[in-house]
Amino acid sequence: MMCVECGKEAEKLYSGLCIDCYLKKKRFFVIPSQVLVKVCRNCGAYNIDGEWKHGRLENIIEEYLRKNIRHEIDCNLEIDFENRIARCTGYFEGRKIIEERKFEIRFKKRLCEKCSLKKGGYFEAILQIRKKDLSRKLEKEMEEVITKRVEEGNSFIMKKERVEEGLNYYIGSKKVAHSIARELKNFYKAEYKSSSSLVGMKDGVEVYRDTYLVRLPEYGVGTFIKFKDEVYRIEGIGKKIELISLNGEKKYIYRDEMKKAKIMDLKTRDAIVLHESKDGVYIMDSKTYKTYFVDKKAKGKEKVKIVEYDGRIYVIE
Ligand SMILES: [Zn+2]
Ligand SMILES: [Zn+2]
Repeated sequence: MMCVECGKEAEKLYSGLCIDCYLKKKRFFVIPSQVLVKVCRNCGAYNIDGEWKHGRLENIIEEYLRKNIRHEIDCNLEIDFENRIARCTGYFEGRKIIEERKFEIRFKKRLCEKCSLKKGGYFEAILQIRKKDLSRKLEKEMEEVITKRVEEGNSFIMKKERVEEGLNYYIGSKKVAHSIARELKNFYKAEYKSSSSLVGMKDGVEVYRDTYLVRLPEYGVGTFIKFKDEVYRIEGIGKKIELISLNGEKKYIYRDEMKKAKIMDLKTRDAIVLHESKDGVYIMDSKTYKTYFVDKKAKGKEKVKIVEYDGRIYVIE
């Protein structure tokens, strides 16, 4: 067979051409010459092919090019971002094929969907966190969970509001707010309530706004309570509440029974172990420097935790 281009004899022709002539003319890859990137002017998200994404621009462009290079043979893509060159390498009939193209990146500033909803004051649910004297530490801990879940759920917090009894988070997605509320409920053994109210109509459909209330218990591990005239410290919170009395007796009660318990304003403090005998230990209160003998084992510890109640000192741990 003869190549119609160069007249050379060839065993195999490709569209009438010998392989050398064919490879000179053939383009195996079609690489886009331009990448149009929309950038959210509020959060910096990128959008090339319709979807808003956060991440490194180079990765997002690479992903886009990979999907949008038309190829007749497999393309091994390399991108030189500095010079904006995309290079495809592949093989045809055992020959290495390299094709490259300069591409241009153009930017347009926009607001992403999330940011435009957020700016428009849109929200679907209010997550209400309720706790008396909510500490900064606990607030931060919870907020980390909330922020993380909101991001994972591709939603947003429209507004955070501090109210006397706690915090309100206005969240873009009902689904996300609901799952956060459930998670906080389970984690903090909190009380949980949800309600829904009709806020209007949109395109002939009733629009409801949900409220998820998470009321954190006023007690936690380490809280002292008075239950049936006995003082206990909470040791664990599970299906049941694990208690230990000042004298070291363990007891389990149902969470419901906590309604009958009174929270005590008792704080533990350190005491230094002075001497350990076989009957007990001599300790010194780190606050009053008074020394006491208690019939407990220090088990070689240098310090123990004590609590003062009704004029007496108890060793807790
Ligand atoms: Zn030829
Ligand atoms: Zn945005």
